Amino acid sequence: MDDITMDDVMLLIDGEWRKGRGDLIPVVNPATGRTAFHITGASDADLDDALAAVRRGFLQWKGTSAFERSKVLRRAAELLRERADEIARILVTEQGKPLAEAKGEIAFSADTIEWFAEEGRRTYGRVIPSRAANSELIAYREPVGPVAAFVPWNFPILQAVQKLSPAFAAGCSVVLKAPEDTPACCAALAQVFLDAGAPGGLLQLVYGVPSRISEYLIPHPVIRKVSFTGSTQVGKNIAAMAGRYLKRVTLELGGHSPTIVFDDADIDNTIKSIAGVKFRNAGQVCVSPTRILVQDRSYERFIDGFVSATRAIKVGDGLDPSTTMGPLVSQRRLDAIERLVQDAVRHGATVETGGKRIGNEGFFYEPTVMTNVPAGAQAMNEEPFGPIALIAPFKDLDEVLAEANRLDYGLAAYAYTNSSQTIQLLLRSVESGMIAINSQQVSFPEAPFGGMKDSGYGSESGTEAMESYLNTKLVHVTR
Ligand code: NAD
Repeated sequence: MDDITMDDVMLLIDGEWRKGRGDLIPVVNPATGRTAFHITGASDADLDDALAAVRRGFLQWKGTSAFERSKVLRRAAELLRERADEIARILVTEQGKPLAEAKGEIAFSADTIEWFAEEGRRTYGRVIPSRAANSELIAYREPVGPVAAFVPWNFPILQAVQKLSPAFAAGCSVVLKAPEDTPACCAALAQVFLDAGAPGGLLQLVYGVPSRISEYLIPHPVIRKVSFTGSTQVGKNIAAMAGRYLKRVTLELGGHSPTIVFDDADIDNTIKSIAGVKFRNAGQVCVSPTRILVQDRSYERFIDGFVSATRAIKVGDGLDPSTTMGPLVSQRRLDAIERLVQDAVRHGATVETGGKRIGNEGFFYEPTVMTNVPAGAQAMNEEPFGPIALIAPFKDLDEVLAEANRLDYGLAAYAYTNSSQTIQLLLRSVESGMIAINSQQVSFPEAPFGGMKDSGYGSESGTEAMESYLNTKLVHVTR
């Protein structure tokens, strides 16, 4: 990464890479804690240029056939696969995750682009039986217009792709504000779309002070749709602004996933299933299993097994092939995790393993398991977004449902049980946008991904994602 220069990460406006005229922003390698390169943020004049280009791009792309759009998306998926090794290394060096995870993110992103390439050819309208023999009623589907998309740093490529693919497939153009922590991998993704034949106006890539950019783009009359992934707090501000200017919005916000383990589950496999994903991306995952609730009889056995699995994790630089957990993305996240663990301990929590920063170079933190964390501790209430597993016992279904639904979050939930009756009750009672039974899998290109309550609204992925980029126009033809 040290050979990346400022010129490598520029704004993409109207198909041309250019230096922004805004602030200079340092980008830090999380494995060293040192500034690796700088990016230039967008000035108001740059944003004006991006808005003019995205408007032109929309008119051109809207007029391109669904068949041609699909070809560009399919080619982009192929190119992303071809460049996976190179882009994965960029992702690791600016984000921190292990190389195998970075490659997995890119492979999943390519599958997502490809799925929407096909789906874009199936955005059917509807012919409605008319009241008169000489007339026709048609529900016609049209792209909603230019989109402002805001993507965070934890899965920067995938989250960009989950916005760009349905938007492009539906016929929309996009101004993408990519994360300032991880700009170079998003620039590499933008180059993939350019090389796949995307017209210059289709995708504008900008960086800068996030609030300044969202406050400039969202009210602007060119923008017709907003999509944001990030924290609940920021999401509420974005929703309020989108509401004031009547822009459609999709919000994928934070979570604090209840993960319920019943006595009748296969406990050894359950430990493997949860431990296998808990520390993925150093826990910086919105659907990470965070509140692990284990039924009384299995509680001690679960803790023993989970703590052993946690101790087997090898923390290190993501580029080292033996690393299974990398650093946190930033000093900000390191400080937040230290604060959450110290607060839990002050409230009487037991640290079963971990609980400390590793070294003083880079943003490494030990994979941490805590028990006896009282409901009043911050970690039990705010999204931990780091390598912290909180494990608590429960007696029965009523007690565990009360805990599962206690928070305002409602993103993902997980349960492990062999009882079909328990499964039925959970499906109806857990307040979450997604629930997986006996696995940790809730993300698929073809299925809706999203939350309820304070975790946001609207879906990314699946046909539901396409819907959010389409308007329905009634056409009434009388002959
Ligand atoms: P943060 O709130 O500064 O940033 C989160 C993301 O939102 C970043 O990508 C940032 O660029 C963007 N952002 C912030 N303010 C914005 C604004 N006014 N307009 C547009 N974009 C804006 O904090 P952080 O330290 O990066 O993360 C803090 C919390 O955010 C985490 O603890 C987690 O709860 C949440 N988060 C959630 C996701 C997710 O996948 N849902 C991803 C990243 C962060």
